[in-house]
Amino acid sequence: MRYSAVSVFIQALQGHTGWKPAWRKAAPAPFYDVVIIGGGGGGLSTAYYLAKNHPETGRIAVLEKSWLGSGNVGRNTTIIRSNYLLPGNEPFYEFSMKLWEGLEQDINYNAMVSQRGIYNLYHSDIQRDAYARRGNSMILHGADAELLERAQLSQEIPYLNYENARFPVQGALVQRRAGTARHDAVVWGYARAADQRGVDIIENCEVAAILQENGKAVGVETNRGTIRATKVAMAVAGSSSLLAAKAGLRLPIESHVLQAFVTEGLKPLIDTVITFGAGHFYISQSDKGGLVFGGDIEGYNSYAQRGNLPVIEDVCEGGMALMPMLGRARLLRSWGGIVDMTMDGSPIIDKTPVENLFLNAGWCYGGFKATPASGFCFAHLIARGDPHPVAAAYKLERFAEGNLIDEKGVGAQPNLH
Ligand code: FAD
Repeated sequence: MRYSAVSVFIQALQGHTGWKPAWRKAAPAPFYDVVIIGGGGGGLSTAYYLAKNHPETGRIAVLEKSWLGSGNVGRNTTIIRSNYLLPGNEPFYEFSMKLWEGLEQDINYNAMVSQRGIYNLYHSDIQRDAYARRGNSMILHGADAELLERAQLSQEIPYLNYENARFPVQGALVQRRAGTARHDAVVWGYARAADQRGVDIIENCEVAAILQENGKAVGVETNRGTIRATKVAMAVAGSSSLLAAKAGLRLPIESHVLQAFVTEGLKPLIDTVITFGAGHFYISQSDKGGLVFGGDIEGYNSYAQRGNLPVIEDVCEGGMALMPMLGRARLLRSWGGIVDMTMDGSPIIDKTPVENLFLNAGWCYGGFKATPASGFCFAHLIARGDPHPVAAAYKLERFAEGNLIDEKGVGAQPNLH
């Protein structure tokens, strides 16, 4: 349904009584062909692409223990990009970037996808070499990349601390098609689009057990009753190890808290995304004006959705080293999400040793940008039983085989300075 400005105004005066919910409040049915556990970005996009690309699938449900967007998908710093180095990763993230570019038309929802670019700063000759290599890898895989020297960079971003800096900025690797997307809108857009294709989205429905018969997953036990299913798919991000343990699986994943921060609203200042190369710090500015930034995971495992002071200090130090003017902005709030860290920093989209039980996990710092491709490829795997070509490297057994996809600095070891 489309609204004119006048009808929106009248609705506002009438308390929005005529607005329809974006998705139905579905009650759990006793049986589905596919049950997806987790109503985050991964779970909802999987449901959408299953219903859209594989209509033969049958009945699909998404089970969310809380409200949609209560997990990491509503807690992240909204950066989307495809600036990876390794052949296992770059095709997947570039595929995701292309899906982002058509997403709003595809799901008919304004997700505020903003291709404002990302600048990865380098501060040494060695780092420049590494970024040149990464940029070449990106271009080889069809992505865009530019290596800027300091003279050009300082014209594009004049407010960095170039002079007398503790870590002088020498230049940047730029991906201009990268940027941000409004994370809540991504959730709502996928939820509405999946619902319109008949997916049952069931909130406040926590999976307590995965039912198995003869080594096969046959359904789930929830706080809203037993739900039988032909296939069960897990997409629960920070809770992956806990849920997999209910099926008797031990995952190569650690859960850590990752914090993010936002300042008071300021006039437009930063019109891109910037990452510091001499510490773990990155920053952008939201459309409301808040400077949104973050850094490293907490140094120990936890399932608490809140962080601690050492990371706040570390992140703020990184920001001050790069942009001393940040010290004048007042920090409004910080929050934490539980991220599922693999040892090599790359995700898992695979079958499990339990037949008909599928796993989407291990997104570390970066699963939001993956949301479209994560769902697209997971849906492909669930429907067809074989991996989508761009996600073929994301196998669970690679950890046992030592066949890692190790993007340096994005795995489970925090880099606290
Ligand atoms: P989630 O949104 O966490 O979804 C999982 C869902 O499963 C949750 O809603 C949870 O309630 C539900 N669940 C768990 N257990 C059960 C159960 N037993 N039964 C039913 N439901 C269950 N990525 C980027 O690409 N760019 C960024 O800028 C970025 N910044 C980040 C900043 C922070 C502070 C954090 C925390 C993460 C950031 N990420 C970023 C990572 C990204 O948000 C995650 O990798 C991604 O959202 C994970 O996938 P998801 O959306 O499916 O997870």
